[in-house]
Amino acid sequence: MAFSEFLGNPQIVAALRGALRVGRVPHAFLFTGPRGVGKYTLARLFAQAANCERLNDDACGECHTCQRIALLAEPQRLMEQGLAERGEGADAATVERVPLILQSHPDVWALVPDPVRLKSPVARPMLRIGQLRAVQRAAYFQPMGRRRVFIIDGAETMRWDVANVFLKILEEPPSSATLILTAPSPYSLLPTIVSRCLQFHFAPLPAAEVESILKEKSDLAPAAIRLAAQLSEGSPGYALEMDAEKESLRRRNGLKILERAARGEEFGQVFAQTNIISKDREISFEEQLSVFYSLLSDLLELTSGIDSPQLRNAPLCKELASVARRIDAGWVMRGLRGLDQLAAGARRNLNRQLGLDALAAELAPSLISRE
Ligand SMILES: [Zn+2]
Repeated sequence: MAFSEFLGNPQIVAALRGALRVGRVPHAFLFTGPRGVGKYTLARLFAQAANCERLNDDACGECHTCQRIALLAEPQRLMEQGLAERGEGADAATVERVPLILQSHPDVWALVPDPVRLKSPVARPMLRIGQLRAVQRAAYFQPMGRRRVFIIDGAETMRWDVANVFLKILEEPPSSATLILTAPSPYSLLPTIVSRCLQFHFAPLPAAEVESILKEKSDLAPAAIRLAAQLSEGSPGYALEMDAEKESLRRRNGLKILERAARGEEFGQVFAQTNIISKDREISFEEQLSVFYSLLSDLLELTSGIDSPQLRNAPLCKELASVARRIDAGWVMRGLRGLDQLAAGARRNLNRQLGLDALAAELAPSLISRE
């Protein structure tokens, strides 16, 4: 894969190429943007181009180095390998002593949040101090090729006290290494880290571009491709991994809950719906909450009088418009605040159904009028 094959965000691609061409590569990048939009893919491509045996500012995709680094395109397989080598049910000390590092070429490492298969309880995947210490040591080694590249994927999962290890590398940057951090937004990272990185924000791709990527990379039927592209919110990676039918149903159910809450009726029904959602173990609670974020974003567009709203859930435009007639922007903002609290609560193992019920109840008009 060469830079020209990367779809979307051409100005970022041009900037990275330019830096390689003139040989002035920053020691740290921060790639921000929604999941699946191509942050990790472009980071890997950059690592290839920085070390390609034939080209200076692009990846030929054919030389030994390009091919080795290309193996990082399937992190899942390397992760399984790493976890298997560490052994099932590793204790906390072993997890730090044998850090999870994805590597298919000596100069390029990818770090991903460690899912730590402890027996119980299931911990949230996060970047661990052992992983960051390993980078801290390795960053100062001389590269075998031209440049050592460390991709730190999901940098927002770093605990802030742990992030200080990382800050040390950024304060005394090694001359022949580049760190590439990826995160949904700069606000999820320590400001001192953000200020030491060159930041690029990845914009969502137009649905038509997502469709053309799906046509090339999946064997889905045309109707399924259109649906997945519409629901992907501009992220081809997300579109590729999603079960569009199920995702569509989730959004429909989510909107039903919001609609019932807006009407303040049928609370028994509202709670039956939240019950279904809280039992859906196929996706994480964060992903379930993102369904509501997406729906409320659309409702915010519809209630704030924007001329031609760009809906994330275009297939539900009629239903969304009907809910929007019952509510105002203040209602939506209350919903978004409630979701923020729920997201924070989920990190502390809050009971999911109770949290969702509380949110629905808060949005019901009969309760709001008491404020
Ligand atoms: Zn090459």
